[in-house]
Amino acid sequence: MARIVKRAYTYRFYPTSGQADELVRTFGCVRLVYNKALEERTRAYAEGRRVSYGESSAMLTGWKCSDALGFLSAVSSVPLQQALRHLQAAFANFFAKRAKYPVFKSRKKARAPAEYTRSAFRWREGRLTLAKMDAPLAIVWSRPLPEGAEPSTVTVSRDAAGRWFVSILVENEIIPLPPVAASVGVDVGIAALVTLSTGEKIANPGHGRRERRRLAGAQRALARKAKGSANRGKARLRVARVYARIADRRRDYLHKVTTRLVRENQAVAVEDLAVRNLVKNGKLANAISDASWRELRSMLEYKAQGYGRTLVVVDRWFPSSKLCSACGTRQEAMPLSVRAWECACGVVHDRDVNAAKNVLAAGLAES
Ligand SMILES: [Zn+2]
Repeated sequence: MARIVKRAYTYRFYPTSGQADELVRTFGCVRLVYNKALEERTRAYAEGRRVSYGESSAMLTGWKCSDALGFLSAVSSVPLQQALRHLQAAFANFFAKRAKYPVFKSRKKARAPAEYTRSAFRWREGRLTLAKMDAPLAIVWSRPLPEGAEPSTVTVSRDAAGRWFVSILVENEIIPLPPVAASVGVDVGIAALVTLSTGEKIANPGHGRRERRRLAGAQRALARKAKGSANRGKARLRVARVYARIADRRRDYLHKVTTRLVRENQAVAVEDLAVRNLVKNGKLANAISDASWRELRSMLEYKAQGYGRTLVVVDRWFPSSKLCSACGTRQEAMPLSVRAWECACGVVHDRDVNAAKNVLAAGLAES
């Protein structure tokens, strides 16, 4: 039985200078329309009136015809309409007491993305062309869109590091995979990104020597720059870019790993992060490892759900590295420096593989 889910796929793209100009202009118009409509609605609210979407849309038409705001008709009208829809939703949430009163979008803080619905872009043979543009966007397809996917909404944005992103919303038909007999326990570590109960170790990308050196270099350069100087801003941007690249690579890699785990196994067992943190050593407990753990878990969660597999999260604490997965004997101590050990029963264990085996056993017992 197939299920339909909506999911957004985000990619980087490299606009031509003409496309960049058009998008920057559009972002500016989106922000202006949002803020002006908010101003009008606020005035009405003070008088005890509510403005409907239709009314705000009519106002937009009026602004476009005025001398002062005629430039609004130079950009695609769809992102402007979408800004009004978002404002409408923000007010609906406010009136339903689910959210605070909407605030203005500032030039500095708010990144006002431009949202294009079906009528404002062309999708042909895997090429995406936005309204008011002649050429398709140069998108880096870091992973493919699902086969036969039809985009319904496209959102364009730019982040603090100056990178351009396009987020493509598609309806995805998910067909549960045929059942398999295999199950796997996963231990998330630092030396290896993940260790499987099968004995396989999957290396951590993005922590290569080259990335570490580049990051250290960027951070040193930042530390040398005077506070508040233009060069400091540039150096900070460089650090942000190196971080972003490492995070991108890690995410792509985690996608591949989690898809594989979910395809090959009926059940995947992991330890809860809170449980892991109980036994974590200060030195090893770094933010990067926690971040990849969270990402890994959330990817496993939605992929398992989509493909009819089970993710078991072991949230009961047990000494996963101290137990012999072969005979169940508990070792007295297991310092972190011990990477391999021999149990009295004669089995020689790799520390992480043994832990993964114990996680699998606990997961299967729990489910
Ligand atoms: Zn043993």
